[in-house]
Amino acid sequence: SAKNVPQAPEDPLYGLVNAYLSDKSDKKIDLSVGVYRDDNAKPWVLPAVQKAEQLYQCDPDLDHEYLPIAGLPEFINAAQRLIVGADSPAIRESRICSFQTISGTGAVHLGGALLSRFLPLPTPAIYLSSPTWAIHDQIFNNVGLAIKEYPYFSSKTKMMDFDGMISVLGSAPPGSIILLHACAHNPTGVDPTHDQWGKIAKIIRANRLFPFFDCAYQGFASGSLAQDNFAIRYFIDHGFELAIAQSFSKNMGLYGQRVGAFHYIACPGSGAQEIVERVASQLAILQRSEISTPPLFGAKIASIVLNDKEICADWEKDLRTMSGRINTMRESLKQGLDQLQTPGQWGHITSQIGMFSFTGLSKSQVLSLREKWHVYMVETGRISMAGLNSGNVRYFAEAVDDVVRA
Ligand code: PMP
Repeated sequence: SAKNVPQAPEDPLYGLVNAYLSDKSDKKIDLSVGVYRDDNAKPWVLPAVQKAEQLYQCDPDLDHEYLPIAGLPEFINAAQRLIVGADSPAIRESRICSFQTISGTGAVHLGGALLSRFLPLPTPAIYLSSPTWAIHDQIFNNVGLAIKEYPYFSSKTKMMDFDGMISVLGSAPPGSIILLHACAHNPTGVDPTHDQWGKIAKIIRANRLFPFFDCAYQGFASGSLAQDNFAIRYFIDHGFELAIAQSFSKNMGLYGQRVGAFHYIACPGSGAQEIVERVASQLAILQRSEISTPPLFGAKIASIVLNDKEICADWEKDLRTMSGRINTMRESLKQGLDQLQTPGQWGHITSQIGMFSFTGLSKSQVLSLREKWHVYMVETGRISMAGLNSGNVRYFAEAVDDVVRA
């Protein structure tokens, strides 16, 4: 009987969203969820996506048939080219297979389910960065992977704890999975440099670890799609076997449509194509048992954006609009704190990249911001920069100044 089902805690992030929604103050600011907002704090349907929607509506062959188990072929192929590069040896040598998923979350899950079943260790562990996206832990727990952590961020220096990371990766048992954020690390906004990626690759190779890239922000780190897949291309060019979870939530603003893909890439060499075929056959079984086939609409829209040259160029412009506005907010916030001479160092606000900033504010400061100033952010001190705009950034700087001095 379900009588014995215990009450589970509310998801902390969605609890916060509900608290924000019921706050009656006209000053309230939501900096919790990672969603893009325009300068009027409103959701932004990307103009490129609007164009794609119009084209889709005009399609005389429009129907609502099931997609194949692996997803919409023209979406999957374009998503693949975007994430590994159209000229990738993985595509040229047919060493890659890709499945459309329920956005990035579904891709992380599908990859976790695959790896938990087929990795050679009896109880494979997955190493997550400390900190990481809050849901990684839950997803990998659900598929029975043991969770371990590698150091990633030093709250003292507000920079990467690179030595700590390398030291733990160096002692991880061979065969362990290493979850890496491809770009715009969530929640810290701090990415390895190209040189550091090279060193990470070296230790992963030396220790025979399995890299699993989570790419939820391609186009948000540098504003350039081509630059933001540097780490993934580097690993593929150096012959790694790897997996990728790809999301179109943020970079196309298709959050609720749940558009994403999971990619598996085999090492180069004889037998690679057969390995990929076998992996694809298992992914098909997993996909079928969980969602049967993926959803149609979002994949159609993303496919039009990716495959229509003109709309794709518009999309790159939209990405620059989003990352440009976020960078302007970083500058304004930093300036505001400088003008107020807020105690502490705030250089990380402008040096961090992507949608988030790890402010360094303590849990009690975060709670004061909520109670006294109606500013909603997660307890780790992470803020979604996209929640700031020209109308509220000064107010937020004053609020931070107040709680830091308290
Ligand atoms: N991975 C990371 C690191 C994320 O930040 C997110 C979004 N918050 C996701 C995956 C998945 O997002 P979605 O399922 O909306 O694509």
